Parts: sequence; structure tokens; C-alpha cells
Amino acid sequence: MLSLYNTFSKSKEEFKSLNPGKVGMYTCGPTVYGKVHIGNFRAYMLSDITRRYLEYVGYEVRLIKNITDVGHLTDDDVAQGDSGEDKMLKAALKEKKSPEEIARFYEEYFKLAEKELNIIPAHFFPRATAHVPQMIKIVEGLIEKGFAYEKNGNVFFDVTKFEDYGKLSGNTLENLKVGARLEEHPDKKNPWDFALWLKAPENHLMKWPSPWSVGYPGWHIECSAMSTEYLGNTLDIHTGGEDNIFPHHEAEIAQTECYTGKQYARFWLHNRHLLIGGKKMSKSKGNLFTLEDVLEKGFSAMDLRLLFLSSHYRSQMEFSFEALEQAHKNIQKINDFVLNLEAAAARDLVSPSTIDTKSVQEKFEAAMDDDLNTPLALSVFYEFISQCNKLFATNHLDSKSAHDILALWKKTNSVFGLVLSGQAEIPEEIKELMKKREQARHNKDFSTSDEIRALIEKHGFIIEDTANGPIVKIAD
Ligand code: AMP
Ligand code: ZN
Repeated sequence: MLSLYNTFSKSKEEFKSLNPGKVGMYTCGPTVYGKVHIGNFRAYMLSDITRRYLEYVGYEVRLIKNITDVGHLTDDDVAQGDSGEDKMLKAALKEKKSPEEIARFYEEYFKLAEKELNIIPAHFFPRATAHVPQMIKIVEGLIEKGFAYEKNGNVFFDVTKFEDYGKLSGNTLENLKVGARLEEHPDKKNPWDFALWLKAPENHLMKWPSPWSVGYPGWHIECSAMSTEYLGNTLDIHTGGEDNIFPHHEAEIAQTECYTGKQYARFWLHNRHLLIGGKKMSKSKGNLFTLEDVLEKGFSAMDLRLLFLSSHYRSQMEFSFEALEQAHKNIQKINDFVLNLEAAAARDLVSPSTIDTKSVQEKFEAAMDDDLNTPLALSVFYEFISQCNKLFATNHLDSKSAHDILALWKKTNSVFGLVLSGQAEIPEEIKELMKKREQARHNKDFSTSDEIRALIEKHGFIIEDTANGPIVKIAD
């Protein structure tokens, strides 16, 4: 039984989809005015692991991840839709490109980085700029129903009209009154009202006609428009980073529920932040690393993927290259494990099976069922690897067990999503050379076998002679 921590109820709840067997899932995607950083990827990893595990347990998942390509009017910290700068415009001016060019460039960058991290692409990546009519329709509906008001070409959502405002974040109007105040907009009735539509200043590049002004949408409305367009009025799961809880997701709930009259998202999943020196890694602070920074230091995207899996998404995670080094070692350990299994599976050792793969699978599933506890699921495997390594060392792993363990690894790795440099990636020519070398060794023709080893190494591979026979790996 899968249980997920729902930010809305602040408790773990058994997950069941609204429509049997099918899950509608929405993830707040990137703002494409710059390179996504590895902190952002922590959020996309949560979405990926959730989706992968739902698929593992048999659901058909439809995942939508939006592309925020409307220049934003907000600041990472304020994010209330009424202050701050247009980041897309700023980036466009700096790079002497149109906002569209900037957005397409960074969208492509984001998708490539997701691919390198083996994050399964969403079924659709809707762009905010292609959904302005849908946003306008919702805003019109909200005005009609009395939840929103227009003044001087600007439209705001009236938070006092939504009883449940603050239920997700705890920022109820009562609590907000005693908290920090926002920079006020002269056209707002209440300081916590948020923008649905804003009149564009002269120099604003991205603007659209609307019933109220030539302007642009507030940040929050795009997710309501795109999620309901592709998933219907009620989503099974909505994910994002913890900074999205307020005001973004609180606003999404308010405007969508007031518009549709239905519950918006049944489960809200939020990852805690990736920190650097104790502070949130963020674009606006500039204290960030990109995937390229990680690769340039000699690490792989899989090292980073494993690092993310090694901490639970609801605990804060401090990024460091030392931790990445440990993840790198663990990837090698898993890689060797799979190579050893492939070597053991390929030979004909028949002996009574000593390995209980069923209990490993059960422990893995118990960990994942408990709010996607990936570090625990990994530790089940690390323990199992140690157990198997003893058998490899003494040449005691029979072929059937090796096959069974490999099958288990493949199944569970559909959730971990680690791409290993296993035998599958070894070219046929190298495999042929390996066979010839084995033949030469068998004939005690060691000078030929040494020559072949040198040739294999020249092609960038290394050979390790293990108790289970030789294995070949891609050289580091
Ligand atoms: P943005 O492009 O700023 O809208 O962020 C995209 C996603 O990344 C959102 O879900 C954010 O909550 C998430 N995010 C941003 N910074 C971090 C961080 N340091 N750690 C984890 N998630 C983050
Ligand atoms: Zn969003």
C-alpha cells in the first residue's frame, strides 16, 4: 500500500487515484530565462521518482510539466505577483535576443539536462505563452463569480472571498496579518490579493490583448490553466519545491477551486530545498551549480542522480562535492555488482540457489511505499550487494540466481532510473576480442592474451579478471 505525505493534510495518506488505474499528475516546471540549476532538479527528481514508482505499482500515469516562458513579474522571495522585475526581459536585454529566443534556448537546455539525468520526459510540456486565452477565460470566470476584481487594467484575486485560503501553507489571512507585509499595489483591495492579470508598462516585451488591458498574466494563473486543460479539474498529484507552497500553490488552489467549484489537487507533494552552505540554492542568489559544473568536475549525471536518491525528498539536503564523491563510489559499486551478475549469469554454474530475491523485493517495496523512501530502498540494495559480493568472491553464485537477481535489479532500477555502463554498452567488437582473449588464456598463450588486453585498453576499456570470469568496463 503506497502512502504519500500530503502537504495539504500534513500527514501520510494512502494513495488511491481518482480514476482506477490512472493518475493525473502535474509538476511546476522551469522558468526558462536562464539555466536550470541542480536545486531545480531536486524538484524534477521528486516528480520522476513519484511517476516511476506509480508506474512500477501498475498505474498509468499522465504527467504534465509546464514551461514558464512568460517573463516573470516576481522575485524568488516575494513571488506575490506584484513586485520585482521581468526576468525574461532582463535576460533578453543582456543577451541581445528576443524573449522567445531566450525561452526556447533555455527550454532546450532544460530538456537535455533532464535527459542526461534520465528523468523520463513528461507526456507534455505546455508553454505558458501558448495558453494565454485559457488563462483569460479563467480570469473572466473569476470576475463573473465575484472572486476577482479589475482596476486600471489590472485584475486581482480577492483572497478574502475564499474561505480555505491558507489551508495548504498555514498562511491564513489571520496569520498573514501578523506576519511580514508585502509591498502594496495601489490597485489592490487587500495586501494579500494576488495578480491574475497586469497591465504592461511601455517597455514590456511580452504582452497580450485582454478584456482589461494589453498586459500579461500573473504567475499563478498559468498552472491552473495548463493543469486543468490537460488533466481535468481535479488532479491526483501536484508536485513542486517547498518554496512553491506559498504563495504559488496556495494561489493555484484558490483560483482553480473558485473557478471550477471542485477540489483542485488531491495530493500535494513538496520536496525540501537543496542547500548550499545552509542556504537555498537559487537563481536569484546566484549560489548555484548547473549540471555542467558537476560534469566539468569529472562527475557524471548518474552520480548526481544517485546523490538525489540518497536523501529523502522531505529532508533538507546540503550539496557538496564530497557527498557527490561518495555517490560516485556507490555508482561504481552498483556497476560492478551488475557486471559481476552478468558474468555469473553467462556461465553454467548449477548449484542450489542460495539467494532470496523475494525478501529483497519486499523490503524495497516497503521502503518505497512509505512516502517514497529512496534512501532506505537503496540501503536494502547496498546490503544485498555486500551479501552477493561474498558469493562472487568465492565463485559461489549459480547462474539461475544470477539471472533472478539481474531481473530483480532491472525491475527495481525502473524506479531508481540509474543508467549503468553495463555489458549492454560494450561494443560487439570488444566482446569478440574478449572471447579471443579467453581462448588464448585457455590455450595458455599468454603473449596473445596480453596483446589483446592492450588492444582492448587502447579502445578505452579495462578488463578485470574476477572469480566469476573476466569482466570488461568502460575506463573512467
Ligand atoms: P523555478 O524555475 O525557480 O520556478 O523553480 C523550478 C522548481 O525548482 C520549483 O519547483 C522550485 O520549487 C524548485 N526549486 C528551486 N530551487 C530549489 C532548491 N534549491 N532545491 C529544491 N528545489 C528547488
Ligand atoms: Zn506552478
